[in-house]
Amino acid sequence: MKLHIPALLRPHGRHRAAPAPVFVDLLPGTRWLVCDTTTCAHLTTRHHPQPDGAWRCGRCGRTKGEQ
Ligand SMILES: [Zn+2]
Repeated sequence: MKLHIPALLRPHGRHRAAPAPVFVDLLPGTRWLVCDTTTCAHLTTRHHPQPDGAWRCGRCGRTKGEQ
């Protein structure tokens, strides 16, 4: 009896290294700041820099001033 192996599982040439993980939500300049909204409950969340110099919470979206 011949076992059928799907093409995706068959060894196929040299083993290729897995692509490096991409952290799409960690933008350059992202800071971990305390968010004071009730949504975030004063937790430290990621804040993304805005063009006007403010920081925007990546969880609730509230913008806080530059710190
Ligand atoms: Zn927040």
